[in-house]
Amino acid sequence: RVVVIGSLNMDLVVRAARMPHPGETLVGESFAQVPGGKGGNQAVAAARLGAQVSMIGRVGNDANGNQLKQGLEKEGIDCTGVSGDPHLPTGVAVITVDDASQNAIVIVAGSNGALTSEAVAEHEQTIAQAAVVVCQLESPGETVFEAMQIARRNGCVVVLNPAPVTGPLTRAWLETVDFLIPNEIEAAELSGVKVVSPETARAAAWALREQGARHVIVTLGAQGVFVLGADEGREGGRHYPARRVEAIDTTAAGDTFVGGFCAALAAGRASDDAVRFGLAAAALSVTRAGAQPSIPYLHEIESSPGV
Ligand code: ADP
Repeated sequence: RVVVIGSLNMDLVVRAARMPHPGETLVGESFAQVPGGKGGNQAVAAARLGAQVSMIGRVGNDANGNQLKQGLEKEGIDCTGVSGDPHLPTGVAVITVDDASQNAIVIVAGSNGALTSEAVAEHEQTIAQAAVVVCQLESPGETVFEAMQIARRNGCVVVLNPAPVTGPLTRAWLETVDFLIPNEIEAAELSGVKVVSPETARAAAWALREQGARHVIVTLGAQGVFVLGADEGREGGRHYPARRVEAIDTTAAGDTFVGGFCAALAAGRASDDAVRFGLAAAALSVTRAGAQPSIPYLHEIESSPGV
């Protein structure tokens, strides 16, 4: 089982020819309401890619919250750990996409900000059943830290996708994590090393190891991932190139990689195998539009070569 502890957002997506200027009212082209949030996306990815999944998170007592929860349940995800907040609205991301496919995003945490350590601790039994527990940073820091501690003491593999990043993590944080999975920007922010290539990713991963991290997997967009194992040295590690695909929309590519990687680990695959599986899933996701709609199913990966 994979337990995802994190954010659930409703993405409110408008398309317009260009971004509005301050004070301007613009007539847009379309509007869509799409389930999102890194926690929700990773839960959906892990479920579609073969894992039994439980979600721990918090929604508001409103239509968005109900819709998000129902969406997860439709994927077969156990939502007994998704509580409802009586006061705060469900988290939203207000996204404007222009004709050049650039986006501008405002996120309001809403009920995600009220996911407390106590609420997570209530579900220790669920966490204890997990082979893999995965967290992100769209929930309150102390809650994420507590969740990872609970996971660790129950013998789960702890995965942290440190997104969005708000500065370096302490040694106590990094030592709680088995697999740290930042993208280029997050790896740079956490390590102080600018990441533009597999070589620079190795340097950043090594810096993170020196700060207390164990396995570090840096995702590099179209360049794939760089993996530095917990027992490898400064010159060690390995670059796994991404599959060459025609990218249409990279939204949720990182979440698909993380969810796929966790699902494969939970299925008992070795970590290098799980990395290859995550890469295959993420490559498929970038060939399709949208966040959750673009996340592939297990049978699609099994039919792709070399996995
Ligand atoms: P994030 O979405 O978190 O910024 P990345 O951009 O690093 O993360 O993408 C995550 C993973 O998705 C990459 O490691 C890669 O496997 C896959 N991916 C992203 N963009 C592409 C692309 N253009 N072609 C193939 N795979 C891609």
